[in-house]
Amino acid sequence: QVITAESLALAQQQDLQRVMDMFGVKIQHARALLIHYRWNVEVLFSYMAEAGRDAVFRRVGLPALAENQPASQPLPSTVTCGICFDDVPQADATQMDCGHAFCNDCKAGWLENFTVKIMEGESRKLKCMAFKCATICDEEKVRAVLAFRNSEALARYERCLLESYIEDNAAVKWCPSVPHCGNAIKVEGGPYWEIECLCSHQFCFNCLKLPHSPLSCSLWELWERKCKDDSETNHWITSHTKSCPKCSKPVEKNEGCNLMTCRCGQHFCWKCGTATGAAHSYEHIVGHSCGRYKEEAETRAADAKRTLSRYLHYYKLWRAHMDSLKFEEKQEQLVQEKIERLEQRDLIVKDYTWLKSGLQMLYKARRAVSCSYPFAFFMFGNDLFKDDISPEQNAMNQVLFEDQQQQFEEQVERLSMLIEMPEEVLEQDISGVRFKVLSVTALTDRLCCRLYELIEDLLGSVISATHHIAPYSSQVERVSAEPASKAAWF
Ligand SMILES: [Zn+2]
Ligand SMILES: [Zn+2]
Ligand SMILES: [Zn+2]
Ligand SMILES: [Zn+2]
Ligand SMILES: [Zn+2]
Ligand SMILES: [Zn+2]
Ligand SMILES: [Zn+2]
Repeated sequence: QVITAESLALAQQQDLQRVMDMFGVKIQHARALLIHYRWNVEVLFSYMAEAGRDAVFRRVGLPALAENQPASQPLPSTVTCGICFDDVPQADATQMDCGHAFCNDCKAGWLENFTVKIMEGESRKLKCMAFKCATICDEEKVRAVLAFRNSEALARYERCLLESYIEDNAAVKWCPSVPHCGNAIKVEGGPYWEIECLCSHQFCFNCLKLPHSPLSCSLWELWERKCKDDSETNHWITSHTKSCPKCSKPVEKNEGCNLMTCRCGQHFCWKCGTATGAAHSYEHIVGHSCGRYKEEAETRAADAKRTLSRYLHYYKLWRAHMDSLKFEEKQEQLVQEKIERLEQRDLIVKDYTWLKSGLQMLYKARRAVSCSYPFAFFMFGNDLFKDDISPEQNAMNQVLFEDQQQQFEEQVERLSMLIEMPEEVLEQDISGVRFKVLSVTALTDRLCCRLYELIEDLLGSVISATHHIAPYSSQVERVSAEPASKAAWF
């Protein structure tokens, strides 16, 4: 569910009202309770039912009896101001829920006090100013005082209260679009969802990055980091070049013998990197021996090379599919135009939703196939999960996975080809193409779903870490604009 700037106040009000009605408390107490339980009304209710009202109120820091004072209770005619300690008539002072009162002459003082706290970001828990009093201030009274002089602080106060609904709420997050669309998204049933906002930005609700299922958020982050830092490339340079011991420029080895000569004229040994003289034979540099170290150094270079080529293999395939996705995303408009032209022609097929849903399936499947490569890189690397899965089991898993991945990938390419088919070709056998698109879409959907299931199974066998992935659905979840009906909230 999407929460726009306009519906934010309403959505928040609904939750506040529920708590106010349920427990007969004032709005500031309902707010304090909900902030404490991260705006999860159900959790609050269940704590109330379990631990009891007084215990919950104490935990949140509210007075045990925070109900509205019965109107019939007689009020004393004078009160003592908590700042100047003068006794003043009731009418010339503001009395807080806790009974502490502050006279109008001291208004400047508490205005100052509130302003400082609000500017420090304490709006959500403004407390009574009396010494050691922890009672949360009546929001109306705070507004009245601030309206007296400081409209900037008042605006900030209101905004903080409003935005608490998003920032303190585990089930609501701002849409991460740049520039920001102003919407927030509310989800039910945990954070693992891939969402499309009204602004059409798609993202993972949990980590706020672009959708990345069937990779878990943590694996996706690992992959992004791996691609970002050049450490692998640096690795390549260190395994193919050595820096000169004199001027430290990299020198590439391009002949069999181990004596390197830098452009600065310095000679050095390729194996150990130390400076030597020029005299040498193929297997020996005069007056130099690198000792035992050379074997280790060579093994390390060979390992680095293997690791690198493995990574590059997965990286290239991931990249290739991401590039295809970018290209296909540009097709949306073209496909739409193609449909409009086809609709105007007198063909036996009138309805083209199959082409649109085929394209949506293609987006979902393309991203999944792309992400399946980084997944395979981590899963079968005998590194990240080496304590969870034996190398033999891992090798078997990999064969199974690659079979499914390959089948799936073939269908994705078929679907892509069908969707991009030029209309002249389409026209010749429109009902035949329609049938093919429909069946390939359905098959792709099934294979994609199976791939998710397999990945969930494989990650399920990992006990050293928990990996959650967004559950499979044929499309990215589009949020609905209407706030849930009143009935659904209760
Ligand atoms: Zn006073
Ligand atoms: Zn007080
Ligand atoms: Zn948005
Ligand atoms: Zn994520
Ligand atoms: Zn040099
Ligand atoms: Zn030589
Ligand atoms: Zn050496």
